[in-house]
Amino acid sequence: MLYLKTDEEVGLLRESNLLVSKTLAELARSIKPGVTTLYLDHIAEEFIRDHSAVPAFKGYGGFPNTLCTSVNDEVVHGIPSDYELKEGDIISVDCGATLDGWVGDSAFTFAVGEIKEEIRRLLNFTRASLEEGVKVAIAGNRIGDVSYAVQSKAESGGYSVVRELVGHGIGKKMHEPPEVPNFGKKGTGHKMEKGLVICIEPMINLGIKDTIQMSDGWTIKTADGKPSAHFEYAVAVNKGKADVLTTFKFIDEVLNKM
Ligand code: MG
Ligand code: MG
Repeated sequence: MLYLKTDEEVGLLRESNLLVSKTLAELARSIKPGVTTLYLDHIAEEFIRDHSAVPAFKGYGGFPNTLCTSVNDEVVHGIPSDYELKEGDIISVDCGATLDGWVGDSAFTFAVGEIKEEIRRLLNFTRASLEEGVKVAIAGNRIGDVSYAVQSKAESGGYSVVRELVGHGIGKKMHEPPEVPNFGKKGTGHKMEKGLVICIEPMINLGIKDTIQMSDGWTIKTADGKPSAHFEYAVAVNKGKADVLTTFKFIDEVLNKM
């Protein structure tokens, strides 16, 4: 059974996801060479708590921090540390916050200073693949339609789609049914109805799709050591057009000024 949200509940999820959107924009100001990932984590935790919310990842399954910070060949679930970002790195920041009992969850991959053109293209395609998924996240379509749209866009750029990790429903819990894979066939999976809220979150690799789990029990890396990108929106399914609860506009405003 999928939990469909009322309009009022979607409104509450919009608030928690808006806070996460603003938290990521706050981080965008600080992402530069010399900054540690743990420093970013402190900024995010303080910002979330200052807005009457709590970090959703901290303590989730024993995860120690507010953010997942995944650098270069790290796909997701990187643990903030004293690693200092350096020119040419990319960092995927995944952030969750619970506001009034409702969870927000979003991710964005940032460039640290100037990055190689081939990596810039990976970021652009990953973000575009998310947007393609959003276009078909409408009532009457199926989850497989979203999966297919994401995969097609990513693979059209010559990239590969991570299989082991997928998107998910979201509500009072961070992870609710259904699973939302970033690969799949049109016309398959759950039929989406108005009120279903899902996180679409392509994890796209420059090289091969395979990943490896690090011994810290969390960090997932690409098996070939090549970079990986991750962008995530929370999306409320509606008739005719998806209602995207996350916005990257605050991030884009910060980045365009830098
Ligand atoms: Mg998620
Ligand atoms: Mg996330």
